[in-house]
Amino acid sequence: MSDNLFDILARGITDPAATAIETLSAERITYADLTARTGRMANALVALGVQPGDRVAVQVEKSVEAIILYLATVRAGAVFLPLNTGYTPTEIAYFIGDATPAMFVCDPRRAEALAEASGTARLLTLGADGSGSLTDAAKDQPQDFATVPRGADDLAALLYTSGTTGRSKGAMLTHGNLVSNTRALIQAWEYTARDVLIHALPIFHTHGLFVATNVTLFSGASMIFLPKFDVDRIFEDMSRATVLMGVPTFYTRLLQDDMLNAETTARMRLFISGSAPLLADTHREWRARTGHAILERYGMTETNMNASNPYHGDRVAGTVGMPLPGVEIIVTDPETGAELPQGEIGMIEVRGPNVFKGYWQMPEKTAAELRENGFFITGDLGRIDDVGYLHIVGRGKDLIITGGYNVYPKEIETEIDALPGVTESAVIGLPHRDFGEGVTAVIVGPAPPSEAEVLSALEGRLAKFKLPKRVLFMDVLPRNTMGKVQKNLLRDQFGGLYD
Ligand code: AMP
Repeated sequence: MSDNLFDILARGITDPAATAIETLSAERITYADLTARTGRMANALVALGVQPGDRVAVQVEKSVEAIILYLATVRAGAVFLPLNTGYTPTEIAYFIGDATPAMFVCDPRRAEALAEASGTARLLTLGADGSGSLTDAAKDQPQDFATVPRGADDLAALLYTSGTTGRSKGAMLTHGNLVSNTRALIQAWEYTARDVLIHALPIFHTHGLFVATNVTLFSGASMIFLPKFDVDRIFEDMSRATVLMGVPTFYTRLLQDDMLNAETTARMRLFISGSAPLLADTHREWRARTGHAILERYGMTETNMNASNPYHGDRVAGTVGMPLPGVEIIVTDPETGAELPQGEIGMIEVRGPNVFKGYWQMPEKTAAELRENGFFITGDLGRIDDVGYLHIVGRGKDLIITGGYNVYPKEIETEIDALPGVTESAVIGLPHRDFGEGVTAVIVGPAPPSEAEVLSALEGRLAKFKLPKRVLFMDVLPRNTMGKVQKNLLRDQFGGLYD
């Protein structure tokens, strides 16, 4: 039997008349429609020369057609390669040169600007409203399409990492990776056909494309498909939805609205957060205002999702919970790779059917990060507490080494965030003549304490070597589209502070 993700999805459809996707214009796409439309699109891809194993690169606005294109690519046995809508033609040229896709689909408004970057890939267009040369090509195609059989180990998608350092790498994800993770999440979150998801995430990233979309479609559930995050729409949709999946910024922004209370969230079953750390304060405030405990989970492009707070049981603020079914998590010494005892901070490593096949055409990078025994070295630092919950303390590259001492930013950020008048903070290491790196705090808040007040509040609470050498203030921290604080930008901006 074929392990093609679409075959498995199709075999599980019990009610073809059920709504799979509902759009802003109240259009309802049933599971039968989804099968027919992906069939037409898959026929179009094949007619346009896409063969099994070919990459189909896509930089388009969020739309139902873009989801159809994802599923059709997979049905055709090809490899879906979504690209951030913010990428410039120069960046696109890199991805296309690296992945050599047979086809590149872009927004009609950008076709001219991207013509050169598309190289030898066949260029087609798809707009936010679903129009474009690709849709035209699919229109008259038959809806029947024999999904190309694939093995669990065959590629379904190629997702480039955000690449905050060095070149962005293409993570090769197999049908088996995506299907196993979808099943693990459905089980962990008790997802059923009765669920209605508010889908407000971008679909060029693992969170919106795989977690949100696959979990919904594999459950026979439905999703309200919003082009982007919109506070008013979310409040409107919460009256009939059951689940919201968001990045932490969704939750901090909803908290700023007076509409947020137990009543407006009463119908909701589950609020899930991931892709960046959720502040413990946000978790507490959300619970106080709504009665719901946000369920935080942890994953990444290369591994899909790894850990989740429990559906039943304590959802502990500031932790990402326990390994998902079938996933193993260990913490190792970053220098030697030896497993550390419970409670100690080190490198988080992950093994399981969710872990990718390696980096596209980068065997050395793959060998450096994916051990022969199957464990992937995530680059995240963390510890497992005495009840088995995983705590993330930062990225490996965010670790500060000052005067030979290791400083984990999260520990200092937690202390600073607890001070009155502080909303959030980012602690970074900046080049320092004496210490190698100088611990530096960047603070955001409505009425933050002064530099001297911050330092005196931390004295006595933190070892001396951990104390910031300087405290800086900003209106907002720089974040990427997935809500991650871009510490690399802070390091660039303040790099000369200790010169
Ligand atoms: P990406 O590959 O873009 O999804 O980024 C993955 C990275 O996001 C991980 O390696 C973590 O550093 C971070 N991340 C994801 N979820 C969480 C979370 N719940 N808490 C803290 N960091 C997270």
